[in-house]
Formats: sequence, structure tokens, C-alpha cells
Amino acid sequence: MGWAIALHGGAGDIPRNLPSDRRQPREDTLRRCLEIGIAALSTHQSALDVVELVVRELENCPNFNAGRGSVLTSDGTVEMEACIMDGNTKKCGAVSGLTTVVNPISLAKLVMEKTPHIYLAFDGAEAFARAQGVPTKDYNHFITTENIERLKQAKEANAVQVDYTQPVPTQLAKDKDNVVAFSDGDSQTGTVGCVAIDSLGNLATATSTGGLVNKMVGRIGDTPIIGAGTYANNMCAVSATGKGESIIRATVARDVAALMEYKGLSLKEAAAFVVEESTPKGTVGLVAVSARGEVVMEFNTTGMFRACANEDGFSEIGIW
Ligand code: ASP
Repeated sequence: MGWAIALHGGAGDIPRNLPSDRRQPREDTLRRCLEIGIAALSTHQSALDVVELVVRELENCPNFNAGRGSVLTSDGTVEMEACIMDGNTKKCGAVSGLTTVVNPISLAKLVMEKTPHIYLAFDGAEAFARAQGVPTKDYNHFITTENIERLKQAKEANAVQVDYTQPVPTQLAKDKDNVVAFSDGDSQTGTVGCVAIDSLGNLATATSTGGLVNKMVGRIGDTPIIGAGTYANNMCAVSATGKGESIIRATVARDVAALMEYKGLSLKEAAAFVVEESTPKGTVGLVAVSARGEVVMEFNTTGMFRACANEDGFSEIGIW
């Protein structure tokens, strides 16, 4: 069995008529990141290093909701979060509330490697970043004009939004958390994630996000919560995207692993059950790989920016 990789750039209600000037750059980034991952796995880099590498690239791309391009809180600030996990050792690291760190996923990895802890947030996480000397930038670096506009629209609609919504306020269907699940953005962005198995059979996952548009200051989503948005063990590696509150309630990533572990389901069966049966429609997507080299990219939203490949030469890039 050889290596395999899958990555995502967020799930949501992505309109099928997404203009090509919006679609193309995102597809190009997915393709480029997939190629980076393939090259790294082909040259025997570890799954852990590969998922970090790919997510760093996605964080650096302002078209996705992570790192530069992160969506804004209700105060117009960014609070980025990320999580990384190694399947064989179950070592993991997570960060939240970052305002200046260029690559949150690499800080999460440093939390895993250099501290006795798993999860650092807000001032403590920023101080750790300074102590480690990771690249930081003034908060303005992370804020894009598009995201200022998104926040304005979300405030007008009085809603918290997953991804980009171009709302006519009266048409917005808010759920009980007052979250507009997904809508017809012509500039869809999303959380990013990557899962991989290397040629030695090591599994790893990484997820990074700016969270939800107009989220409360201090809100933490599923991404950095081990077992919710991100989880890996020696059977599978999972990275989820969508409405964080739904993903946390359903412990999406851990449930996929648990169904394999305790019920003997295949990765495909486990992921399909979690996405179709245990999470509300229109809220969740995930990418996952298993120790057997299976790759799945499941979602119950209209679409999910996604890409995958394996050592046998199979590869796929998709949105809907
Ligand atoms: N899951 C992320 C959050 O709720 C958002 C996303 O996946 O787009 O913070």
C-alpha cells in the first residue's frame, strides 16, 4: 500500500454558477497544493510534515478562510485557529485566538512538539509564538477587503455566517444558533485542511481556519478541538469543515474513527454515516484517509473545495 493525500478548502453552499474568476484561482490553488503534497510524499516526507506543508500553503492563499484571508469577528479582528495530529502517536497540538501568526498550523505543531500541553489560546498562544520566533505580521496583513465587506453584510443580516454569504437579509434562513448555514456567495472561501498517509503507513491531519464571519470575539469552533474538526489515530486521519457548532456536537472526526474502531466499518461507510446520519444537512464536509489507503471526501453541503491523490496515480479535484 502506498501514500495517499486529500485536502479541502471549505464546504458550503457553493453556487454552481460561481464565476470563473472566483472559481479558477481556488481550483488553481487546490491543484498547486495537491502537487506540493504529492511531491513531498513521493520523496518520503512524513505524513505529519506533509499536512503541515500543504496547510501552510493554503493559509498563505488569501482566497481561503485561514491565515491571510481569515474571516473577521464582530469587532472586525481576526482570531485564527489550527490543529495538527499524528495518528500513530496521537500527539497533537492546537491553537486559537491568534492575531499575528502567519502560519497558525506551524504554531500548533510547535505546541505539540515543544510544550507539555496540547492547546494554547489567545495571549498565551501569541506569547508562545514570540518565544518560538515564528513569523508574525501586523494584524492588518490578515484582513482582506473582501472580508471587510463580508463582515458588513453579515452585520446587516444580523447573522453569523459560515463562509461567504451575499445576502438579501430577508432571504436568509438562520438556524437556531442564528448561523446562516451557507449561501450564495460569489466569493466562497473556506477553512482549509489536509490528511495524508505516507509510504511507511503513518497517518496525519491538519486543519486551519479563521472561523465564522461575524463570530463573537473569543468564539472557538471545531477546528482546534481534537475529535471535532480534527482527529487521527492509527486507523484514519480526518479533517472537517462546515458549521463548527454542528461539528462539535457530533464529534465528527472522532466518530469516523470510532465507527471504524468499534463497529468495523470501512472509512467510506464511517464517513458516510457521520455526514449523512449524524450531522444536520447543509452543515458538514470532511476529507479522510485510512491506514488501508482509502481516501474519502464527503459533504452534505452543496459543495466542498477538495482534491486528492494516491500513489497508484489516481487524482481528483472537485467543488460540487
Ligand atoms: N468549521 C469552521 C468553524 O466553524 C468554519 C469552516 O469550516 O468554514 O470555525
